[in-house]
Amino acid sequence: MRIPFDNSYAALPDDFYSRLEPTSVSAPKLLAFNEKLAELLNIEQGGPADIAATLGGNDVPQGAAPLAQLYAGHQFGTYNPQLGDGRAILLGEVIGTDGIRRDIQLKGSGPTPYSRMGDGRAWLGPVLREYVMSEAMHALGVSTTRALAAVSTGDQIWREQGALPGAILTRVAQSHLRVGTFQVFAHRGEVENLRILIDYAIQRHYPQATGPMDLLRAVCAAQADLVTHWMSLGFIHGVMNTDNCAISGETIDYGPCAFMDNFHQNRVFSSIDTQGRYAFGAQPGIAVWNMAQLATSLVQAFDDKDAAVAEATEIVHAMPHLLEENWLKRFAAKIGISTPRPDDTALIEELMGLMQNDGADFTNSFRALGTASAQDQFTNREAFENWRAKWQDRIKDEPDPQAVMQAANPAIIPRNHRIEQMIEAAVAGDMAPFERLMTALATPYVETDADLSRAPSEQEIVPATFCG
Ligand code: AMP
Ligand code: MG
Ligand code: MG
Repeated sequence: MRIPFDNSYAALPDDFYSRLEPTSVSAPKLLAFNEKLAELLNIEQGGPADIAATLGGNDVPQGAAPLAQLYAGHQFGTYNPQLGDGRAILLGEVIGTDGIRRDIQLKGSGPTPYSRMGDGRAWLGPVLREYVMSEAMHALGVSTTRALAAVSTGDQIWREQGALPGAILTRVAQSHLRVGTFQVFAHRGEVENLRILIDYAIQRHYPQATGPMDLLRAVCAAQADLVTHWMSLGFIHGVMNTDNCAISGETIDYGPCAFMDNFHQNRVFSSIDTQGRYAFGAQPGIAVWNMAQLATSLVQAFDDKDAAVAEATEIVHAMPHLLEENWLKRFAAKIGISTPRPDDTALIEELMGLMQNDGADFTNSFRALGTASAQDQFTNREAFENWRAKWQDRIKDEPDPQAVMQAANPAIIPRNHRIEQMIEAAVAGDMAPFERLMTALATPYVETDADLSRAPSEQEIVPATFCG
């Protein structure tokens, strides 16, 4: 395996990371490899054993500069002054055929100086879950980290459930800079490091930004787009801590995340989110909260803090409006409207209210809207027919509502019960359900596997998701 590294993060001051190599594993075995992504990254593959040895962490590839990144973050609203990559190692960066620089990171590669109480490892379940979820998100058109490979380690991992098979995910990201990367230097009063980080982030992600406040503006825009895109697909991230909020605007850290089956604004899946802080409908407010934390950190880079605070406040206060605009654009498309008007919000909210009252399946209800059997998704038929009449009146002047809806309403999402079934099979050595999911999810706007599009039966419903 040959990876054409071109490392920039490793050239930053050594306060930014700890250099170390992955810890070796007993028997690395390649479970999944993303050939298309490897091509995009200019990687020369080699055979499966070679890939497994490299991406299992046993052979550090030539040109790598392995390190664990330092960061901090607010976890469920409480500031933790030091987190960092506790079970991940950045091998280095490559520049793709598209000219974009990306990180190649091993997740589950052994303890680091930031592991705290953790073992530095991951088990097969969350590794395959992140692989499927992140690649599905990419196919759905959402900005996200990618999955290059899943390798089983041959070692046992101990979790609450007992002994589990260990695995390593190779994650690819436009970078792993997070709100928490800025927070760690700002809170420590390391202004010089903070300024270096700001310059680095601007160069890498927003080269047209003229300074820290312009960076803030760009990140707010990217987050507003991202979170509303999630919502338009019924996605709940589950752990929107500031250390899981990427500056690039990519979805990062697929932990106890989920796509909703039956719709509810307050839906929560994460077993650790007992207060519903990161519930479906809370996500826009949390995005603003996270941007306020970024703003608070960026202000520390200024000598004239009063002026910076005033400007940052204005930018963060503009974000709710930005979120509303993005939300309207995304949800209007789901009902076939390409040029939304302000009063469309009420029309969309009325439909979602019906869906919530009827416990309608989010994905399948929107997908069925343009068909003759849309009413089958609803129990209160009269209320739905009422709404449908108003809606049909609204879209009669739209140029091509069917095409707009087809492109905004997927036929398939990675449903919780399918993910759980896939993991159970993989633990037993059967990767066929994984392959089946990956095939269908590669073209999510086309129905290719009707059984995978089906909503779960009562017995199949998976009500909670767990951290790995
Ligand atoms: P997350 O909830 O995955 O975003 O992780 C929050 C923090 O906990 C990060 O610093 C992770 O690196 C760390 N962490 C999570 N799981 C482990 C583990 N098994 N071993 C060491 N550190 C971990
Ligand atoms: Mg994280
Ligand atoms: Mg994590």
